[in-house]
Amino acid sequence: TDFSTFGLSPALLKALATEGYTTPTPIQAQAIPQVLAGHDVQGIAQTGTGKTAAFALPILHRLAASGARPAPKTCRALILAPTRELAGQIADNVRAYARHTGLRVALMFGGVPKLRQARAIAGGVDVLVATPGRLLDHVGDRALRLDAVEVLVLDEADHMLDLGFIVPIRRIAAMLPTGRQTLLFTATMPPEIAKLASGLLRDPVRVSV
Ligand code: AMP
Repeated sequence: TDFSTFGLSPALLKALATEGYTTPTPIQAQAIPQVLAGHDVQGIAQTGTGKTAAFALPILHRLAASGARPAPKTCRALILAPTRELAGQIADNVRAYARHTGLRVALMFGGVPKLRQARAIAGGVDVLVATPGRLLDHVGDRALRLDAVEVLVLDEADHMLDLGFIVPIRRIAAMLPTGRQTLLFTATMPPEIAKLASGLLRDPVRVSV
């Protein structure tokens, strides 16, 4: 498929074939090479443009290629989403793309008991998809540490702002290694999000669809 031009691993290409994806969407064509190259990316894209795969595929490729294993109670990639519905959709997609990689994916959001989520991350995971409040709960419980995060993704950042998540996001970001890669996706760029992005992203590549 046209996805093979990115140099994605055979395990990912096999999963994409199963999903029936043949041609990258515009946000995928722009973002995947930049994320694979290790750049921070600021993406302006609506839901429905294929933005989930645009960040998930290169992250999975990089995590699988490094061969490292997550330490207990840590995650290597952290994807933050504003709602449980979106977090669940992202986790479903990431699991589908990762099915042949052996990478471990976990999901956490509020409104349900914490115990099962804490157990799911106890051994460490490669990718954690989370809503901000519940993530901080688990950190406060010492069920999770964020000092091993290699990649942070903020999805639907403008929606996070609307829901009052800017302060929690700043708290979370302060716990992450400074050398991490950061990706931020938003449909609109109000001043508060531009300010958040300038604080979190280093020399970002800007992509827009
Ligand atoms: P998203 O914008 O990430 O929510 O994706 C919207 C929908 O498009 C999801 O159902 C994806 O599975 C699907 N999708 C993403 N990328 C592609 C692609 N390259 N080809 C076909 N479908 C895709």
